[in-house]
Amino acid sequence: MGGGFAGAYVARLLGERGATIVSPENFMLFTPLLPEAASGTLEPRHVVVPLRLMCPHAELLLGKAASLDPDSHTVHVDTGEERIDVHYGDVVLALGAISRTLPIPGLAEHGLGFKSLADAIHLRNHVLRRLEAAAATHDEEHRRRELGFVFVGAGYAGVEAFAELSDLVRDALRHYPELKGAPQRWVLVDAAPKILPEVPTRLGEYAARQLTRRGFEIHVETTLDSVEEHAATLSNGERIPASTLVWTAGVKASPQLAQLGLPLDERGRVRTDATLRVEGHERVWALGDCARVPNQASAEPDPPTSQHALRQARRLAKNLRGDPQPYRYRMLGQVATLGRYKGIADVMGVLLTGFPGWFVTRSYHLYQLPLFSRKLRVVVDWTVSLFFRRDIAELGMLGHPQRLGDG
Ligand SMILES: Cc1cc2nc3c(=O)[nH]c(=O)nc-3n(C[C@H](O)[C@H](O)[C@H](O)COP(=O)(O)OP(=O)(O)OC[C@H]3O[C@@H](n4cnc5c(N)ncnc54)[C@H](O)[C@@H]3O)c2cc1C
Repeated sequence: MGGGFAGAYVARLLGERGATIVSPENFMLFTPLLPEAASGTLEPRHVVVPLRLMCPHAELLLGKAASLDPDSHTVHVDTGEERIDVHYGDVVLALGAISRTLPIPGLAEHGLGFKSLADAIHLRNHVLRRLEAAAATHDEEHRRRELGFVFVGAGYAGVEAFAELSDLVRDALRHYPELKGAPQRWVLVDAAPKILPEVPTRLGEYAARQLTRRGFEIHVETTLDSVEEHAATLSNGERIPASTLVWTAGVKASPQLAQLGLPLDERGRVRTDATLRVEGHERVWALGDCARVPNQASAEPDPPTSQHALRQARRLAKNLRGDPQPYRYRMLGQVATLGRYKGIADVMGVLLTGFPGWFVTRSYHLYQLPLFSRKLRVVVDWTVSLFFRRDIAELGMLGHPQRLGDG
């Protein structure tokens, strides 16, 4: 159940033993490259991996797993057109997570998420549209709010998206002579005392320095109070004129888990034992962002990262073949890009910043990306971006074709 990082890797690693993947999409999204898809460095199609290519021995059933009956060993799948019962020997829950939002006035109406490919494409088009709107107006105040960008949540996804999108705007502005010298405002907000709390302090401080040097504002120990269509108000009382508010303040396990009748922890994740078997259910297994997996090497449950989902998938694929062994994985490092050939990397305790950090980050992501054909497409995109300017076409109409006969 679920063809994201965790589910797709389990199916791939099961190889000829075969599996059925139930997924609403026919691809796996490689999220570490999502910020670059949003900024246009990478073609959006190149950051997804078609499941039928990645897992050639698996069957794919396009739809949503709606419910689970462990007694009759059946998953009920909703394909949108019909409900299909899939009988299983073992079932793997890999339903992932959704954005964790808070009941902040205006957030649901005006905030933009950054979790899916649709989110990334929408954000890119939204930002380019703001530039067009800023170029079209002569009203200073209107222009200021179109060029105001607020990102809430300074973990990996937030910082990378913030840096990449600001690069997009910087490059795009070369094509907008009307906006020469127009003031832009980029604001990164987080409730924690520092950005990137999950990386070693030296790397987090380097990232903060890099971003402030570019003229960006970082507000730590600050929260979002409310959002309007063209403004965001922070807990320090400041009201920032901005037509773009991106919410990247963490994830929570898929709410659908609550309907499956399985044991959950206080954060709504399925509880597993050390072999990734769901507690009290012999043939039900879980991993990835939707599961609370005890890690025997760290003595703590794993954080929600693709790095851990992949290692759990390796263990689980072996366990499904028989003789289940406990999962144990010691994290070897962490990486993040900051745009503009800058990055941070912690490789087995060796800390790298600047160009080396950026290079290691890109190399690591490329290494992790499945399928040689995908790697090649990404390398070609990166190479092209070294020699040519970024594409600034705004393609918000994609996926919304005109009806026949409409003018
Ligand atoms: C923008 C962004 C950047 C990130 N960057 C990094 C990074 O650089 N490094 C890193 O380690 N981690 C990163 N992560 C975290 C990483 O993406 C997740 O930890 C990882 O994807 C978890 O894998 P998963 O399979 O549990 O969940 P997902 O990859 O989210 O997959 C869950 C899948 O389940 C499917 N699904 C949901 N409901 C159903 C249903 N009812 N039936 C069937 N299928 C269903 C979904 O469509 C999805 O395909 C990033 C996350 C984001 C959002």
